[in-house]
Amino acid sequence: MVDSSNKKHFIALIGGSISGSEAANMLASKGYKVIVFEMNDLPYGKIEDGLPKWHVGLRDKQEKNIDSKLDHENIRFIPNVRIGKDISFEDLVNNWGFTVVILANGAWKDRDLPIKDIDKLIGKDIIYQNSLLHWYNHKHEPNYKGANIKIKDEAVVVGGGLASLDVVKLGMIELVQDVLLAKKGVFVDLFEFEKKGIPKVLESNNTSIEDLDIKGMRLVYRRTAKDMPLKSPRDDSPESIEKAKQVSEKLLQKYLDKYLFKFNPLSIPIDKIEENGSLKALVLQKVSIKNGRIKTKDGDTYSIETPMIISSIGSLPEQIEGLHYDGAWLKMKDKENYRVYGYNNVFAIGNAVTGRGNIQESKMHGKQMIEKIIDKHLREGDLFEEWLENLNTDLCKKVDDNVKDIEAFIKAQKIMPDGVIENILKKTEDLQTKAGFTRYSDWIKEKTPIRLENM
Ligand SMILES: Cc1cc2nc3c(=O)[nH]c(=O)nc-3n(C[C@H](O)[C@H](O)[C@H](O)COP(=O)(O)OP(=O)(O)OC[C@H]3O[C@@H](n4cnc5c(N)ncnc54)[C@H](O)[C@@H]3O)c2cc1C
Repeated sequence: MVDSSNKKHFIALIGGSISGSEAANMLASKGYKVIVFEMNDLPYGKIEDGLPKWHVGLRDKQEKNIDSKLDHENIRFIPNVRIGKDISFEDLVNNWGFTVVILANGAWKDRDLPIKDIDKLIGKDIIYQNSLLHWYNHKHEPNYKGANIKIKDEAVVVGGGLASLDVVKLGMIELVQDVLLAKKGVFVDLFEFEKKGIPKVLESNNTSIEDLDIKGMRLVYRRTAKDMPLKSPRDDSPESIEKAKQVSEKLLQKYLDKYLFKFNPLSIPIDKIEENGSLKALVLQKVSIKNGRIKTKDGDTYSIETPMIISSIGSLPEQIEGLHYDGAWLKMKDKENYRVYGYNNVFAIGNAVTGRGNIQESKMHGKQMIEKIIDKHLREGDLFEEWLENLNTDLCKKVDDNVKDIEAFIKAQKIMPDGVIENILKKTEDLQTKAGFTRYSDWIKEKTPIRLENM
């Protein structure tokens, strides 16, 4: 069915990754025009800078998929523009002429580790997950200019989700790889470590973790192995929930056996001990679980000597000025949890609202929310009428000196006037030119970094 509402709308999408590309493509296939604003060179978000680089197959498949979705005649891609910094949200909403703005900007702010004064050790003895993974995924690139991180033996990872398992696993691989090379002169690539596991690699090189004098890293979690959110239950039944718990426990054990780190359950970090300005130990509160709730007992604490803490306790959306937040979370307008508070025409999808979940869930969230947005807000035209009423007089003036004429045109034709469209396209082209962007496929080819070979 031809959807005539598409001639009315020009849509801004912030973030081009899993949920953003899904949304952009769904809108574009229905004839809506979409401008995608992406803060990085590449629109791959957590696929490029989150998923550790041994996931070669998954990364390449998802990135190809994002490309196939964004490389569409109704989509214009603007790289290297961060909304909230390079363009204010207010400017985007008021001065461009978009009828709808959709946030698909994910969750890129590490949740703060709740330990007093811990921030002064950031980058030295305290590392947060997002910067760790950016370093890990890109450090082999010849023009890498980011932080230089060295994983220290006996480092402690605080966390409990799948991402924290990736973090402690990458830490152990890095550590053993470095020591094996330094002490035995043997280089083993990360793919072999990842595939075979540390004990097998060391055995085939006639050595062991003890022989290399590596004490190993430690994962600290506030609940038990069974409580780790490593496997989602199929449904809400007690049997499915118990099954998922058992799978989580088994999965953790598999990681422990294969990557030789240690695990401290039922422990919450509460303080740190420093010596001469460096981290000496992490202080933990022992807890118990009663009826699913965490219970603490005063004074029941212990400490672990460690030179490094890696915090992997989750990511939150980065706050953008002009939007409202409920604590750390984007404040939403209604129960459906996809329309942003304070605006009728601003929506949010993917990790930006869910804050968690995997690729499939982010894709599904993008898809389901866009279906709703099209059905409830774009097709029926309520947003267009509102856009019309609020159409900024300054914007009209830029388009045509005769504001009255332009208003009359829109009211009669019920479509966006050419002048408003030209304004959007001109601003888009200016930003693309500034970034050096011409064609999507050429840009991707030029900007995709060197990949490590999986031998
Ligand atoms: C360590 C780790 C391991 C993971 N492993 C897996 C796995 O094995 N399997 C799996 O299914 N999932 C995994 N995930 C989860 C998965 O990567 C995410 O769920 C998914 O990528 C989220 O997609 P998204 O589009 O919502 O957000 P993102 O991928 O975060 O995309 C947001 C996009 O918005 C852009 N952006 C942000 N702010 C702005 C701004 N202000 N202006 C312009 N652009 C902006 C970003 O650059 C990015 O491109 C993992 C995540 C992590 C961190």
